[in-house]
Amino acid sequence: MTKNEQLALNLLQSFNFAVLRRVASREYVFLGRAPAFYDALFPPRDGNPCATPWAISSMLEFFLDEAEDFFALGEVGSISSGVWEEEGLTLENTALKVTAVNLGDAQVVVVRLLQEDYTERLGILRKAREQLLENRRLTSNLCIFKEKSRIDGLTCIFNRTTFMELLLDEIRRSQIMDYPLVLLILDIDDFKKVNDNFGHLAGDRILQGMGSTLKHSLRRNDIVARYGGEEFAVLVPHTPLAEATQVAEKIRSNLAAMAVPDAPRITVSIGCTLYAGMESAEDFFKRADDALYTAKKSGKNRVCTG
Ligand code: GH3
Ligand code: MG
Ligand code: MG
Repeated sequence: MTKNEQLALNLLQSFNFAVLRRVASREYVFLGRAPAFYDALFPPRDGNPCATPWAISSMLEFFLDEAEDFFALGEVGSISSGVWEEEGLTLENTALKVTAVNLGDAQVVVVRLLQEDYTERLGILRKAREQLLENRRLTSNLCIFKEKSRIDGLTCIFNRTTFMELLLDEIRRSQIMDYPLVLLILDIDDFKKVNDNFGHLAGDRILQGMGSTLKHSLRRNDIVARYGGEEFAVLVPHTPLAEATQVAEKIRSNLAAMAVPDAPRITVSIGCTLYAGMESAEDFFKRADDALYTAKKSGKNRVCTG
């Protein structure tokens, strides 16, 4: 063994390599190996551990064809194959990396079995991937859950809790940016009679219809929620009271025209009020509620401002 080969061998051995020295075309002599590596890949045969390594591995044979081409060039240097996976060789999965090295005075093939670190790395990657998928699934479930908890199940619009959060946000924003903010509170007229005469399920269908009619009657920035059993709240930002009252009228007439299968037409009363400067959300709400009460008292099916 030359000094170069010895050096290469010593280095390579410490990294779990086997080094084969080429003595003629497709003829190699085993120079050395790292412990436990070679036996796993090429079990000893006929007292010569490397007589025909390519007989075991078709990929190795394929690579040796490449090595022959490389050695035929007569240039000092090396080429390295990619890493490929060998299935069913010695263990379940085996990865090989083969490098042909022309040291000038010797031609060497280095075979590296990546079995251990490869499978370990695969395991780590697989685990990381599973973790990632699991996290993604959990995050998406959480988002769905969060979103669901903001929405009223029957009408598919915001629920009361969400509305109160959004109301506080909107109040803060309107104070900072100084824009008009109008609150509408709607209540179905004589809804109890609807339930009594047509059944609770018909009442539910009306509530569902109200959810979608309200959404379609409003602009994108308006906020609508089911505030209670048959009460709804609408927040109309960036809109003066007179204009918001027209919005309320439109809502009222759209709901009066709403057709729901196997259910009667309904009417609603609406209380409407403008946010007054620094007041609390409760005061704001109370004024809209009072206006609604006035609408009920004065005959229902109407919009009252307060
Ligand atoms: P008013 O015009 O004064 O508002 O009369 P009303 O009958 O609408 O008022 P009241 O508050 O007496 O009744 C409200 C009714 O709304 C009673 C209740 O059964 C019904 N209701 C509340 N939530 C639901 C619901 O989820 N589904 C159905 N079908 N009915 C509901
Ligand atoms: Mg009510
Ligand atoms: Mg009612």
